[in-house]
Amino acid sequence: MRTSIATVSMGGLLRAKFEAIAAAGFEGVEIFETDVLAHDGTPEEVATMACDLGLEIVALQPLRDFEGMPEPQRTRTFERAKRKFELANRLGTTRLLICSNVSPLALGGLERLADDLWELGDLAASAGIDVGYEALAWGRHVWDYRDSWEIVRRADHPRIGLILDSFHILARRLPVDPIRMIPRERITFVQVSDAPLMDMNILQLSRHYRCFPGQGEMDLPGFMEALTDTGYDGWLSEEVFSDRFRMGSPKQIAFDGYRSLVHLTGRTKTAALPSVPSPEAVTFVEFSVNDADAGTLGALFTAIGFAHRGRHRSKSVEWYVQGDINLVINSEKTGFAHSHQITHGPSVAAIGLWVADASRQMDRAEALRATSFRQPVGAGELKIPAIRGVGGSLIYFLDHATELGRVWEVEFEPLVGPAILPTGLTRIDHIAQTIPFEELQSWRLFYAAILGLERTPQVDVADPAGLVESQVLYSPDRSVQIVLNSSQARQSQSSQFLNAYFGAGVQHIAFATDDILATVSAMRDAGVALLDIPDNYHDDLEARFDLDPDLAARMRVLGILYDEDKNGRYFQVYTQVIADRFFFEIVQRDGYTGFGAPNAPIRLAAQTQLSPPPGMPKI
Ligand code: MG
Ligand code: MG
Repeated sequence: MRTSIATVSMGGLLRAKFEAIAAAGFEGVEIFETDVLAHDGTPEEVATMACDLGLEIVALQPLRDFEGMPEPQRTRTFERAKRKFELANRLGTTRLLICSNVSPLALGGLERLADDLWELGDLAASAGIDVGYEALAWGRHVWDYRDSWEIVRRADHPRIGLILDSFHILARRLPVDPIRMIPRERITFVQVSDAPLMDMNILQLSRHYRCFPGQGEMDLPGFMEALTDTGYDGWLSEEVFSDRFRMGSPKQIAFDGYRSLVHLTGRTKTAALPSVPSPEAVTFVEFSVNDADAGTLGALFTAIGFAHRGRHRSKSVEWYVQGDINLVINSEKTGFAHSHQITHGPSVAAIGLWVADASRQMDRAEALRATSFRQPVGAGELKIPAIRGVGGSLIYFLDHATELGRVWEVEFEPLVGPAILPTGLTRIDHIAQTIPFEELQSWRLFYAAILGLERTPQVDVADPAGLVESQVLYSPDRSVQIVLNSSQARQSQSSQFLNAYFGAGVQHIAFATDDILATVSAMRDAGVALLDIPDNYHDDLEARFDLDPDLAARMRVLGILYDEDKNGRYFQVYTQVIADRFFFEIVQRDGYTGFGAPNAPIRLAAQTQLSPPPGMPKI
């Protein structure tokens, strides 16, 4: 199938849309008539502009409220159709897309609708145009593709075919199986989009929440399987008419759209998308800091129980270890980490991931249009493949099958420092990133497509200054878990983080322990500043859960938060916020699979009390 996108999916002027669509890698574009009407140039010039960018104009849309009209509207409707055929001709496209009638005047009746389409077919034939007919989920009489197919079948005109649009089918929760019975030559055009599965008016869902395949929750793979079974091999076009999309940058929207189609079809223009297993674990987290912050952060790592295990052979880079957790502090004066530090202040500049095959993982990322990153490496250093992630930070890929598996020995001089008493931290449980609200869908798709991460439904968390949307992405065995947080509220902690940080980035890292009581006691003894939790919280906790009284008392003293689900118990504690931007979390999960969402408002309030946003009094 060939890839296309509708101009209605993005905001901006037509030229900017075309350029973004071509740059992203699409072969075709579906033109929304309003874009031509608003364009300062003739339809012929629009056609030339597309052609110069290597884009085929694959369809003109839409002809609305056509079929089933009473007179005198019916005559006018046919006049409108003739003008659309002329416009299609001038644009050099051979397809016109009609959507089912939503007018209150529209009349029903299978034969009437089929007759109207048959008559239109003759006009279409004289203009050399193929017409596709689409059932809108909110059509007045026709809102089910099985009905639009029956109308097309009865119209029985070679110029009249069917449009399948995944959104209208899946939003109505219609079965996709009957698609398999539609002859492929009768399918004129196929459109795809996705949406979260929310219980709301379908038109509102479409206008505000429609998104690219893979960004929502609909069964697009099921739709594609049924479509593929028909043998259809024509255009696959993304059509997302949503206010969120039209507010975004055309370039970002087009890139996301292309990534989504490659992920959905498992193919680029020229090759199959390399398949890879999900990442196996987090190899390291790298902080970029200046010299002063390097000392402070190193002291904090030591207090948390990390051993200072090594020093880079040629750079100002220090390596700290506890359990399977590797933390790196980079205070170089040149290179990527340095420029990241200049832009963002002390921050997480990179995350390393263990993958099965770093070079194949890189091929997949590049096929999905990730931005690869290379910088000169010194003698004896490894070339670790990397791509750009959230906020311009890096994701490095390492595997055990090549030299990359020996990264610590190769790049670091071992250090034997003073003995550190470990505090029982075993591994990285999750990494939380804060991103701008309008980028949430982009990053969700990025992680799903490139790393094969799955996701939980989105949850809303109350912040003292607004709502935070939180989305968890995880590898199937949960060895890599990323939490994405974003907020539209300007005073929320997420939004303040973005301001303080000059962009998106890692906001907190959660370390796992098997014995949180021992871990937290040791940290408190070492003077680690942990977040104090109000007594009210623990009073409520004891009322809500059947907790052992001794355990409850110790949790109260140590400031440990608690939650449970059907799988088990969850304990968590937070450090105070460091350098106004990030903090660490310690968790113990006894089978529990969530992330303590019910406790997030408590944590946010406690953090807000320590450092309130401007204008909010410190109590
Ligand atoms: Mg459509
Ligand atoms: Mg967390």
